[in-house]
Amino acid sequence: MSAHRCGTIGLVGRPNTGKSSLLNRLVGQKLSIVSNKPQTTRHLITGILTRDDCQYVFVDSPGNPPQQKSVLHRALKRRFVEAARDVDVVLFVVEARFGPEDRAALDRIPASQKVIAVVNKIDLLKNEAQMIPFLDRLSKTRAFEAIVPVSAHTGRNLPALLRAVREALPEGPAAYPPDQLTDRDERFLAAELLREKLFMEMGQELPYRCEVVIESFKEEGRLRRIEATILIERDSQKAIVLGKGGERLKRMATAARKDMERLFGGKVYLGVWVKVRRAWTDDVRVLRQLGYD
Ligand code: GDP
Repeated sequence: MSAHRCGTIGLVGRPNTGKSSLLNRLVGQKLSIVSNKPQTTRHLITGILTRDDCQYVFVDSPGNPPQQKSVLHRALKRRFVEAARDVDVVLFVVEARFGPEDRAALDRIPASQKVIAVVNKIDLLKNEAQMIPFLDRLSKTRAFEAIVPVSAHTGRNLPALLRAVREALPEGPAAYPPDQLTDRDERFLAAELLREKLFMEMGQELPYRCEVVIESFKEEGRLRRIEATILIERDSQKAIVLGKGGERLKRMATAARKDMERLFGGKVYLGVWVKVRRAWTDDVRVLRQLGYD
């Protein structure tokens, strides 16, 4: 058998190319948030896939943040750059087209970095031969280790992608226990699940600047008691989040609690509050609490 390998993998690309979906599909459990809205993945999330001959440690990145001036966006931008710099290989995820935003994302990856181009969503093509000219063009944009067309939805070609990734990783023993799916703690995952429900339930209505903070997380025997706050920026947003008679908030909290119970394997009490904090995206203290510093 060939030598064991282990290394870190960053997912980079413009928003909506399917990076979160790909990570979930590869790691086999829902860990990072998936949504139709760009910019929902604000945190770096690692998912870990352990195979006999290789351990893959995935680091998700918050897409390619737009040029905005708030503290939050600056923090996002820094994380983006870090994701592309501190890993053994970057998966540059595109759809079967290459626009200016893709170009910008690719240009941010340092020249010395190993990069594999992943062409996602090929299930949307009527005919796979259609993408040949695109693959040809893509291959001229950079010296990729490999170019792998895949579908995160159907799972097509993912084994080939994992083989290509393995090739790019250094030899070495596994860095994490085999049953570990993420090195994020439950507190973080609880916030992610609640945030995902907000995005799913509210879609376009939801202001981008809306964040979930876990105020307390206590384990009482088999029960986890979690108090969370949804931070919004304006009073007028409160009614939107609460819905008529608080129904909407209740629905989101229930869905999040069920997901937490499934993920943590035990009962969860979840209390959710909505609070207004003006311009929190420029509030350094709040950002620090959220882990952006
Ligand atoms: P990210 O912003 O790059 O993390 O993208 P997401 O993983 O959130 O996906 C963005 C959208 O593309 C979602 O609506 C996904 O369901 C969809 N999507 C992701 N992968 C595929 C795929 O392989 N095929 C199709 N048809 N849609 C996909």
